[in-house]
Parts: sequence; C-alpha cells; structure tokens
Amino acid sequence: MILLKRVLTTCGYCGCGCGLYVNIEGDEILGVTPQGGHVVSDGKLCAKGWHGFSFVRSPRRLTKPLIKNNDGTFREASWEEAYKTVKEGFTRAMTGGDNTDAIGVFSSARCTNEENFLMAKLARMSLKTSSIDHCARL
Ligand code: SF4
Repeated sequence: MILLKRVLTTCGYCGCGCGLYVNIEGDEILGVTPQGGHVVSDGKLCAKGWHGFSFVRSPRRLTKPLIKNNDGTFREASWEEAYKTVKEGFTRAMTGGDNTDAIGVFSSARCTNEENFLMAKLARMSLKTSSIDHCARL
C-alpha cells in the first residue's frame, strides 16, 4: 500500500506563485497536483510547475565547493578555501562606490522568493552592484 502525503505549497519558479500540492511517499517526490480554487492558478500549472521538481534528486547537484582552474576544469575544495577565494575575488573587483560593471549576481528560480529578495539586498547594499538577474523571468 502506498502512503501518499500531500504538502500544500507555492510554486517558486516565477513570480506568479501558483498553488500546488507536492505528492510525497517517504522522502520521494512522486509528482505534483495543482491546487483547485487557488486565487492565482485555480487548478492550473505551466510546464515548470508540473515537471520542475526533478532537480531535487538529480545526481548533478553540487554537494561540495568547486574551484575553477585556469585550464577551465574544476577541482573540489574545502569550504574554507572556497570562501577565501570568493573573498579575494570580491576584494579585487570592488574598486569603488558602484561595482555594477565589475560584479554580477545571478540568483535562482529554485530559491524561495525570500531567498531571492535577500540575494538582491546582498547585491545592491553590500556588493554595490545593480547587475542582478534571475532565471525565472517569463
Ligand atoms: S512557473 Fe508556472 S506553475 Fe510555477 S508559479 Fe510560474 S506560472 Fe505558476
């Protein structure tokens, strides 16, 4: 017998915020079901909403920091080395009051809206760049 659990949530792939249930068995996502009567989506989802959960179990997900070598290959690194490398790069790039031409930030549709808001704040307030984008623009 399959014990299916349905978790009501909001699709985070774009700013529409469609309502859906994530259907779970154990710790596996089996699929999603649109939330009927939702104020935005009313039982409908686009292709991203229907099928965009496969990344959760993807073997291609990064689990350790990678540093790019000069020849274009990547090597695994410790978190300490990765943070040190990032800090050195930002220190070199931050030359003045406006770093828009030197630093760009790319956020993700797989973050929550709140996480993307914080990324925008980090970019504009701390890194002093307005070069920020997001892959979920429709
Ligand atoms: S990506 Fe599609 S399903 Fe998700 S919120 Fe946007 S329109 Fe809705």
